[in-house]
Amino acid sequence: MDYAVIAESYEKIEATTKRLEMTDYLVKLLKKTPKDVIAHVVYLTQGKLYPDFVGIEMGVAEKLAIKALIRASGGSGSVIQKELEKSGDIGETAEKQLAKRKQSTFFSKTLTVKRVYETLDKLAKTSGSGAVDTKMALLSGLLTDASPKEAKWLIRTVTGNLRLGIADMTVLDALSIAYGGGKEAREKIERAYNISSDLGRVASVVAEKGLEGIEKFQVMFGEPIRPMLAERLGVPEEILEKFGGRCIAEYKYDGERVQAHKSGDKVTLFSRRLENISDQYPDAVELIRTQVNAKEAILEAECVAMDLETGDMRPFQELMHRRRKYGVEAAIEQYPISLFSFDALFVDGKDLTQDSFPQRRKTLEKIIKPNDRLKPATQKLVKNPKELEDFFEEAIEDGCEGVMCKSTSKDSVYQAGNRGWLWIKYKRDYKSEMTDTVDLVVVGAFHGRGKRVGTYGALLLATYNPESDTFETVTKCGTGFTDKDLATLHEMLQKHVVPRKNSRVQSTLETDVWFEPFVVLEILGAEVTLSPIHMAAMDAIRKGSGMAIRFPRFTGKYRTDKSPQDATTSKEIVEMYNGQLKKIGESPT
Ligand code: ATP
Repeated sequence: MDYAVIAESYEKIEATTKRLEMTDYLVKLLKKTPKDVIAHVVYLTQGKLYPDFVGIEMGVAEKLAIKALIRASGGSGSVIQKELEKSGDIGETAEKQLAKRKQSTFFSKTLTVKRVYETLDKLAKTSGSGAVDTKMALLSGLLTDASPKEAKWLIRTVTGNLRLGIADMTVLDALSIAYGGGKEAREKIERAYNISSDLGRVASVVAEKGLEGIEKFQVMFGEPIRPMLAERLGVPEEILEKFGGRCIAEYKYDGERVQAHKSGDKVTLFSRRLENISDQYPDAVELIRTQVNAKEAILEAECVAMDLETGDMRPFQELMHRRRKYGVEAAIEQYPISLFSFDALFVDGKDLTQDSFPQRRKTLEKIIKPNDRLKPATQKLVKNPKELEDFFEEAIEDGCEGVMCKSTSKDSVYQAGNRGWLWIKYKRDYKSEMTDTVDLVVVGAFHGRGKRVGTYGALLLATYNPESDTFETVTKCGTGFTDKDLATLHEMLQKHVVPRKNSRVQSTLETDVWFEPFVVLEILGAEVTLSPIHMAAMDAIRKGSGMAIRFPRFTGKYRTDKSPQDATTSKEIVEMYNGQLKKIGESPT
């Protein structure tokens, strides 16, 4: 298959803003794709070479891309630089440059998808001394043989500027239509994705073996299962009502979610956003290796910072110190952890995700040899609001954030990748007069004045809207930051500065600096109000109004464990707004 076919499809996808049309173009592309490269095509259309959990990124800096472009086009550096400043788009710059190329160097060999993929793969894996030159040679090799249009998409891909907006869900829709026989297949294909987190593997199985293959799709060691998520409620009566009067309440530990894969002596740990974090937690790896009595197992646990002397749990923030590449040994000593396991998803060849929660818990208890560093989560069957409230108080007393209430019904399966009512979180924040904390994405900033000169004075924060795959501003926050936070944030955000507002950011405000959506912060606000300037959930409550958070304050929690797509959604803000109205006795509009 020629890369030109892909480039042509990208052109069409870029030109439309309609999701249905986008899906349609993607379906056509997938149908044209030979089965042996379909996984590659799926990764490439999302600007990747592998599923995220593999952790291999192309990471070509703009500077290097420009050098490769100079070499392949024979153009001058200053002209290219000027062009880039004018358009702000390195892809377009590449296209224009190559169009000017002399006939003699006109593309000699056609680019196949296989060659593009393999070259980019080599490029991504090149490291060490001389890596820059090797990468440049690999990239300019491709560009020399590329048509101007192909060059545009190649350059955008390698520099991380593809931005076609093809979300995972769009790929699943397209696969269902192209190879599953229609939209009805979506649920089965999505399940395969939810238990593997690998769209490429899902694509090649459905393309080669159809729905039958997808039905046989298995959980695999080393492929993280997408996490099951909880809904939230603030009143014990309402929680119990949802569960028909009884549920299991479990301590809601305030740490980092970890999915542990064990196969013999080999253990891999994945974070909530499915990154491999084994190197950060060799102590947790060892606990799983020695205290889990199964040849193969996939477990979920909360990893909590501990004071080993008192046995007390420490605040979540202490885990920040464990996010490091060097000095891990010292950090293990200084910031020890314990694991509280709350689910078992796969044990000795058996996929447990379709078992009920009580069954899974039984298996979990069977395979864990508890010690003071690894235990099953503390839990209790509660049958009335008083029991739930008492258990909640106990959890808070013990240093937890609240409780997780879980269904005990026969259908209480593990809903991989879904937020549903089988789990309901009940947290302390709900008890205050303030709204719950929210996790917001930093999309822009305003320069600091006075004491804050040289750092940011306030940040522009946004919610995520999964329907449009955009980030909608919801508040401007300048409170709650210590001097250290200001310095940390400035450094953290530097890497994400972009010259102009990102196309996925919805804002009517102008800032001094714009960022690509990446950093997520936990914010506590006083109230959700309607807003004429913020874009979150625009028109949802009243035409022409968005939603805003009043009196926002940074809680001190950097949600480095969340990707921007995991931030609080605009819809959740609407729910909070309606919840507030209920509290003060007004009916929501
Ligand atoms: P979410 O993960 O629902 O998007 P979040 O990351 O903000 O939200 P919370 O709202 O605090 O997290 O609640 C969910 C998290 O609680 C889980 O992802 C898990 O890390 C943690 N947790 C702690 N104890 C438990 C438990 N017993 N069962 C399930 N999850 C637990």
